[in-house]
Amino acid sequence: MRLLIMGPPGAGKGTHAKLLCKEYNIVHISTGDMFRTAIKLGTAEGMIAKQFIDKGNLVPDDIVIGIVREKIQENECNNGFLLDGFPRNIEQAKSLDIILDECGVKIDAVLNLQVSDDILIKRISGRRVCSKCGETYHVVNHPPKVEGICDVCGGNLVQRKDDTEETIKTRLKIYNKQTKPLLKYYEKQNLLKNLNGVEDINLLFNNIKKLLGGMND
Ligand code: ADP
Ligand code: ADP
Ligand code: ZN
Repeated sequence: MRLLIMGPPGAGKGTHAKLLCKEYNIVHISTGDMFRTAIKLGTAEGMIAKQFIDKGNLVPDDIVIGIVREKIQENECNNGFLLDGFPRNIEQAKSLDIILDECGVKIDAVLNLQVSDDILIKRISGRRVCSKCGETYHVVNHPPKVEGICDVCGGNLVQRKDDTEETIKTRLKIYNKQTKPLLKYYEKQNLLKNLNGVEDINLLFNNIKKLLGGMND
């Protein structure tokens, strides 16, 4: 299975991507996670990306497209993958089509999580991530068992540097201007599946599974 998960910042893409990849045994390709890892490792690419990410701006297309192409071509992606946070503009969407053509594969569905701005802001400001393994929590909606500590690996939970009120506004603006138009692009290809992203995590996960299960019939 090959999927895209889309939605504004804070919609729950990462949360559901992790659940779906485990369920379907496919590879989670999160460009945001890849950049955060590169920044932690201090690679040259990571250092360039950081300047854009910290301000809430998009990382230049050539860098993003390069890392996605490399990843999709890896053998581990043969069984399928879920792209989370890519594509984010029309240039990236067109490049993705070329990459998929090169590999002789197609996207099965584009999952679009719909959430209103006021809820997004609450989600992003309450988001906490594990500094070790990247698992995502929310101080109210999805708290860890022990405050500040990751359930999965025991690492410390931190707030992402780009999850500030100022940066959130920039990211929402960029989403509306550059990323939202992609929904039409995928609707025209009959791939778009709109989902109510406001539902509780488990309920929404079940709805997505039902939808994807139905596609195989
Ligand atoms: P994205 O990857 O789209 O930016 P995340 O998956 O990181 O979004 O989710 C943003 C925040 O909202 C996290 O703190 C997460 O725990 C929380 N969250 C995700 N999905 C839901 C949901 N359906 N209901 C309530 N909170 C959610
Ligand atoms: P969110 O969870 O808020 O949707 P991500 O974790 O997907 O954010 O991405 C964090 C940041 O990484 C983005 O604000 C952007 O600066 C950069 N980034 C991630 N994916 C892309 C992409 N496809 N194109 C350009 N920049 C990206
Ligand atoms: Zn962890």
